[in-house]
Amino acid sequence: MLNWVLLAIFLLCVGMSGVIIVYMCLLWYSTTLQSNVVLPVTSTSEKGLSSSELDKLPKIAGKELVMGTECAICLDEIEKEQPARLVPGCNHAFHIECINTWLSKHPLCPLCRAKLDPEFFSSSQNPC
Ligand SMILES: [Zn+2]
Ligand SMILES: [Zn+2]
Repeated sequence: MLNWVLLAIFLLCVGMSGVIIVYMCLLWYSTTLQSNVVLPVTSTSEKGLSSSELDKLPKIAGKELVMGTECAICLDEIEKEQPARLVPGCNHAFHIECINTWLSKHPLCPLCRAKLDPEFFSSSQNPC
């Protein structure tokens, strides 16, 4: 007789925990759904440049630099024979590899935080 009572209590506990687990899953599901809706909005506004857009940025040699020769990304000197890239608008210069890596993640100047003008890329696409 006692065995039957224990079994009944055991089944009741299993049933209760089952309900709680389903409830937790629903709660977790609704919170992840909400965060999924929010995420794309923030990631699209901070989209970096594509490699074809990077190719359109002005490229110069280190010896042509006039506004200082230090790359603010790696804090290293841009040597005379090293290729450098200018950020259109503010004309800050960085190593090509440094600025390419940065701009593919953030569409702004790493030094002065000036936003890259999207018109720069659309206007240079015109054949004339
Ligand atoms: Zn650098
Ligand atoms: Zn700048």
